[in-house]
Formats: sequence, C-alpha cells, structure tokens
Amino acid sequence: MKKYNTILFDVDDTILDFKKGEKEALTALFKELDADKKENIMDEYIKINQSLWRDLEKGKVTRDYVLNNRFYLLFQQFGIEVDGEMIENRYRYYLDLQHECIDGATELLESLYQNYRLYIVTNGVSKTQYTRLGDAKLEKYFKEIFVSEDIGYQKPAKEYFEAVINRIPDFDYEKSIIIGDSLTADILGGNRIGIDTCWFNPHKKDNDTEIKPTFEISKLSDFYKILDSNN
Ligand SMILES: [Mg+2]
Repeated sequence: MKKYNTILFDVDDTILDFKKGEKEALTALFKELDADKKENIMDEYIKINQSLWRDLEKGKVTRDYVLNNRFYLLFQQFGIEVDGEMIENRYRYYLDLQHECIDGATELLESLYQNYRLYIVTNGVSKTQYTRLGDAKLEKYFKEIFVSEDIGYQKPAKEYFEAVINRIPDFDYEKSIIIGDSLTADILGGNRIGIDTCWFNPHKKDNDTEIKPTFEISKLSDFYKILDSNN
C-alpha cells in the first residue's frame, strides 16, 4: 500500500514560474509608467515586496496592505508620489497574463493525478491564481484550489491549514504531504499541522532557518522517488 494518498501543492515557483512571470509583468508595467529607466527599479521592487510578504507571513500586516502599498513605497524611494492601488491593478493585469510552468510540472501532475488526490495551497489573489492555473492548463489536475484570499488566512498560519483540512474529505495526516519552495510558508505550515513536507529547492539554497523539511529535492522529477520509496 502506498504511504501517501493526498498531496498539497504550492503554486508559485513550485509549479508555475512566478519569478519569470513577475519580471515580465514588471517590465511591461514600468514601461507603461515610463519608469523603466529608473536605476535598479526592478531590484528595489523585489526587495520591498519580499520584506512586505515576510511581514505578512508573520501576521504583522494584512494582504491588502501589501498589495496597495508596495508600489507606493517603491515610488516613494524615487521621490514620486503615486496611487499605489491603481498601479497595483495595472500590475495585476500584466501578471494575470503570465503562466509559464516550472520544468517537469505538467508531466508530474499528469502522472500523479489519477493515483493521488492533489490540492493547491497558495497564498495570493484568487483571480490571478485561477487565471494562471487555467491558462497553464493545470486546473484539471486538482480536486480543489485553496487560495489564501478565499480562506481568510495565509500560509503558514495554522488557521489556513485547518480550514484546508476541514474541506478535504477523510484527511489523514499520516498519508498527506505538502510540497513547496518556501521554507517559511510551505514547510513551516506542514510542520505546524504535523504532515510530511518536501522542500523544492531548485537553486540548492542553504537552509539557514530552524525549519526542517522531511525531504528536499532540486528537480520536480525527484518527487517520484519520494513517493515510490514510501510505497
Ligand atoms: Mg512558492
């Protein structure tokens, strides 16, 4: 008998290449705003955005705060006052168009979905996530998609995972595993509810946290080995 029957998948930078899509959307946005010549604007945005999402994971700020203020804070650094919400809407328009898959993602999902129950666990904006998963033709592999915006909590909050578990029929902690690229959102979340975890670490970053994944892989195709060896 196989060990696992339920797999929780993160989306961004686990099955969809968010970093690539983000870069393309920002390039288009900054061009539209005539801001593409500003020095290091892309790197500055990434810095501000990452620190806001970290604050969100720690529960210090709300999701709306992050989305409505990241561009305001960015342009403030260049001495320009902007309507952060309006720019966020334009950014979202460009972001919704991006749906490039991570190498091996479609193949992995295609080969797993008939033998395992697959679910999406993602922090993000519902419309964006549904559009991108639909455009990438990945939606069909999942029994349900749990977006933090709909749940009202985000990974790694215990409340988020409890809501997810409540909606999965016959959820068995022993037979479930979460796979994702974020130690602080996916792996910590899995640890908190007590299920196995698989850290997808394609760039082989050092784990400089206290968070311990059960497994670590650098290619999605290595996930088969984990499932097989636990059969
Ligand atoms: Mg991710």
